[in-house]
This record gives sequence, C-alpha cells and structure tokens, in this order.
Amino acid sequence: MRKSIQFVVKYTKHCNLRCAYCYEYKELHKTDKMELADIERFFLNCKKYVEQNTQHINFIWHGGEPFIIPLDNYREIKKLQDKIFSKDVVVSNGIQTNMTILTDKHIKFLKEEEFFDSVGISFDVYGDQRVDINNQLQTDLVLKNIQTIIENKISVGGISVLARNTFPYVKEIYSFYDELNIPIRFLPIYRSAFDTQVEQHALTVKEILVAMKMLLEAWSSSKSAVLVDPLDEYVNYAIAYMTKDENLKYFNKRDDEHTFILNKDGNLWGISETYNQEFLYGNMFSETFEEVIDSKGREKALIAAENRCEKFCKNCKYYGYCSGSFINNITPIEELSIEKEGCIIKLSIDLIIDFFQEHDIDTYIKNHLSQQTWDCFHT
Ligand code: SF4
Ligand code: SF4
Repeated sequence: MRKSIQFVVKYTKHCNLRCAYCYEYKELHKTDKMELADIERFFLNCKKYVEQNTQHINFIWHGGEPFIIPLDNYREIKKLQDKIFSKDVVVSNGIQTNMTILTDKHIKFLKEEEFFDSVGISFDVYGDQRVDINNQLQTDLVLKNIQTIIENKISVGGISVLARNTFPYVKEIYSFYDELNIPIRFLPIYRSAFDTQVEQHALTVKEILVAMKMLLEAWSSSKSAVLVDPLDEYVNYAIAYMTKDENLKYFNKRDDEHTFILNKDGNLWGISETYNQEFLYGNMFSETFEEVIDSKGREKALIAAENRCEKFCKNCKYYGYCSGSFINNITPIEELSIEKEGCIIKLSIDLIIDFFQEHDIDTYIKNHLSQQTWDCFHT
C-alpha cells in the first residue's frame, strides 16, 4: 500500500500573469483546458489502482492559473469524484493559485470547502516578477486578496520562488508569512521553459545555501517559528543524524514514488524528467495507471534515479538519516548544479548541525522554538 498518491494536474496553462521565470512561459497564452470527459477518463483509469493500493488520493489543480477556470467546472469534477471513487478512499483537492483572481464567489467556495481542502498561494512578496500581460506588477492586488483570505479565516500555505531577484529578500519574505502565521515553502528554480531563464533567474547551490542560512536565522529568532519548507525537512535530517535515529526509511522511487505530473493532454510524468518524451510514463486519458507505472518511460526514470542515488547518496555521511527523496526526484537543472557544487541538502545539514552546536540545543529549544514546532520534528 502507498500512503497516498498525488497528481499535480495541469488543468490549463493559461495564466493572467507573465512571471519571467515561469517554466510554463511558452504556453501561458493558450486558453484551452482539460475537458470534463478527459478528466472522467483519467479518474476511471486510476480508480482500480487507487482503490487497491492506497487510502488517499490527492489532486493539486495547477496551471497556468487554475482560478481562470469557472468554479462550476470544479463542482462538476467533484460530482465525478463522488461517482467514481469508492468511499473507502479519501479524495482531497488542493489548488496552487497566484491569488490575483478572488471574487465573493471564490471566497464562499473556499470558505465552505466545496472542493478545495488546501490552498497554496504562489507569491514572492518582494521582487519584480509577478507582472500581468501588460508588465504591471500585481503585488498590491495579491496583498489585498491575502488580507481578504485571512479575514475569512481560510487557511492557506505560501510558495515563494527562490530566484535571483527574490534572493536578497529571503528574510523579509519569511517574516511576511511568519507574521501572518502562514507556512511557507521556498522553491528554487528547478525547471525552465528555455535556457536563458536558468542563466537569468536561477541561483547557484552556494547561493541557495546562503538563503538557507538566512532562513535558519530568521526562523530560529522568531517566536512563532512558522514552518518553512524545505528547511524544516533538513532540520529533521540533522536531528536524526545528531541523535542517531535510524528509523527513517530511505526513499525507493520504484515503490515510494507518489507524486505525478499530469499534463493538459493526459501525458503523465514523474517529477524529475517532466515533459521529456524519453521519460514519459504514459497517457492517463487512454491508459490505466497500472499500465503507466509499468511503462518503459518510467523504468528509464527509475534507473536514472537509482544511478543518481548510487552516485550521490551511497557514500554520503547522512545516508540513512536523510530520506534521499531529493536526489531521487531532482530535475536535470538541479543535477547539473549538484555535479558542480555538491548536494544542497548535505550542505544544509552541515550548516544546521554547526548552528545547533554553536547555540547549545537545549537552551536554544527552550528559548526559541515553540513546543508545537519541536513536536513537529518528532512526528
Ligand atoms: S503565476 Fe504561476 S503560472 Fe502564471 S506566470 Fe507566474 S509562475 Fe507561471
Ligand atoms: S547526498 Fe544529499 S540527498 Fe543523498 S543522502 Fe546525502 S544529503 Fe541526502
């Protein structure tokens, strides 16, 4: 049994913004979307596998901007899910939105959890990337909408891209979310639409490490210490290493892979070689999930992941304390930078251990971490 299966569904590539670092940049103008009949075929094609192999299926409705699509479409999808999936399976739905589209109807829809049970807001707070098609910055609109979301007590998570022009503001971005008590995920650029995007916007491993250091300092000096991903994950690994806790299972992509990217045309990939035809798992509009995960494309992706683990993880001192899911799932862009500069997780764990040793961990916990945050490390 897999604990859960997650599909990141590229419902449409259409977006009202034009962030220059967006890996969907070439397709943002395309207004088509998945048809309901396609979505029904997708659900039917994964039904048997899901019901026999997991208790939880999670769909992240992604884009483009998924709120461009009328809310009634999501209501129709909900009806399909209720009709197709057994009641023994928990079906959940999340959305990743740029939070520029928010009417009273959206507020009511989210508040009543008609369809979405989790909302991720992709918003950098600082930097000059979040512009519309007329190159106008949308920061004020998003800030206003986040305020409305908070007033309506809708719980959300934040996502901020770690790029060249957000890098100088890492601490400020963390403080913004921390003060609002919104958990935040920092996402370095890991996929691109064209080469110049990487040159212009991506950070080196050393720069990401500096960002991690700034985050560690901001997080550790905060009283609320809202969860910050991926730092919280790296802290867990550091603690496992320091306490010699060997209970963590090393990630085995063959059995443990649980996140899949479903493109608008039904093509399915893992999260490493997404959009590369050589590694295509199959098509969920015309094949069953059993066929897709047994495909040659997936086998190729699994072998590539196993080779990466052999190359980067087997001789790493944190092997067994770090889950290795990062190396299993890295994209070609990330692999190139790791080849040159080393594994960002290893470097981050080194940094965290030094930090804990410098700060006397017991006093540090007492003074700085909330009990709730500490408990999170142990669950
Ligand atoms: S809001 Fe998201 S999908 Fe739209 S351009 Fe920006 S990064 Fe791309
Ligand atoms: S190389 Fe990186 S991902 Fe692999 S075990 Fe070491 S720290 Fe973890």
